[in-house]
Amino acid sequence: MTATATRPEKVEQPEERFDFRGAIEPVWCPGCGDFALLNSIRAALRESPHIQRHNTVIVSGIGCSGRVAAYLGVYGFHGVHGRALPTALGVKEANPELNVLVMGGDGDGFSIGGGHIPHAARRNPNMTYIIFDNEIYGLTKGQVSPTSPQGLAGKSTPQWPAVEEPLNPIAMLVAYNVSFIARVYAGSPKTTTQIIKQALAHPGFAVVQAMSPCTTFYNTYKIWSKQVRQLPDDHDPTSREAAFARALDTSTIWLGVFYRNERPTYEQVLQARIDKLRADELSDDERLRRLIDSFM
Ligand code: SF4
Repeated sequence: MTATATRPEKVEQPEERFDFRGAIEPVWCPGCGDFALLNSIRAALRESPHIQRHNTVIVSGIGCSGRVAAYLGVYGFHGVHGRALPTALGVKEANPELNVLVMGGDGDGFSIGGGHIPHAARRNPNMTYIIFDNEIYGLTKGQVSPTSPQGLAGKSTPQWPAVEEPLNPIAMLVAYNVSFIARVYAGSPKTTTQIIKQALAHPGFAVVQAMSPCTTFYNTYKIWSKQVRQLPDDHDPTSREAAFARALDTSTIWLGVFYRNERPTYEQVLQARIDKLRADELSDDERLRRLIDSFM
């Protein structure tokens, strides 16, 4: 799979009216939840004053949702399978002034790319990761994914229902101490926009699990619409214990901000280290050696 990059200049729209529409129209299946999520993301970008097309990059993974990098009118990089997160981290560290968003699906993010999440959580870069979760591999025609319910038979594997239990992504994110954790649903677009705006404004690593029914291979609209509920007003998002308790309550698909905390970002820690080395009276070679040593 070849990585591709897109540039926002292809879109001829004045900055003041820019709606973050990309040059390419989506080719998802009719009714796919990704359409609603794309609209909510566009609205959140529009309503976030710090986000402009010249200072924003979307890095996406492989899968149906990975196409969003081309559907949004900002800089885009469609990376290789499961590697959106480390690629985005490289973009952010090369230019910390950029707003960096990462997007991809449950297969890309929780399976082949799952090992990158805890390390991004440890570093706490100021980035937003939106994981479109349809509980199925849609692009490759319906194999079960890490979040498929146990016993689900994908359309391409009808005689081999899922043997494994599904991941609990929110519990996993709480365990990893991700500094902003939320869940949204494509069927609740206004709330989705508000939550994504909060994720974009969070100074640190924000992860949003975005429930997005796949109408072609696992149409969950009817099931999920009966299960989703907003987190109650008395949920305390500063409590990791409360977030974990809600995450473990799988009888309901709770929506909203489970958890948030603020701590120094990766960029801030790196900059402080660089500033200290600059302040020391060292030769350039010695300064470089110490900087490299400090990361070994
Ligand atoms: Fe959406 Fe599923 Fe179609 Fe992919 S296969 S575009 S996830 S409905």
